[in-house]
Amino acid sequence: MTETIFSKIIRKEIPADIVYEDDLVMAFRDVNPQAPVHILIIPKRPIVSMADATPEDTELLGYLLLTVARVAAQEGLKEGYRIVINTGKDGGQTVFHLHLHLLGQRMMTWPPG
Ligand code: 5GP
Repeated sequence: MTETIFSKIIRKEIPADIVYEDDLVMAFRDVNPQAPVHILIIPKRPIVSMADATPEDTELLGYLLLTVARVAAQEGLKEGYRIVINTGKDGGQTVFHLHLHLLGQRMMTWPPG
């Protein structure tokens, strides 16, 4: 796994607006928000993308989803929200450290772009 900008955020070498953190995961506001609430939830263990996840990551992946729900509640997103995991080039992934986007506080449309 190569170093990414998120590795630096985990090590607190560059600043981020962190809204939740524990031993396994970190959640921080996206620097280029696509909704009034736009938070990235990442594992501290480096996984490149969903395509690179292995059965060993099963528990961590579940924990990431539960962390999204926890952060969404913390942000007061009572009317709903969207979770996005861009995967690989065609999936629009630009940072190759697995991350879940939590988007909320606006009406989402379908299909996504
Ligand atoms: P992707 O396109 O890989 O699914 O999403 C990467 C996200 O990371 C983008 O929404 C982008 O705005 C965000 N991002 C990239 N660099 C930084 C950074 O240095 N800090 C923060 N907070 N977000 C970043």
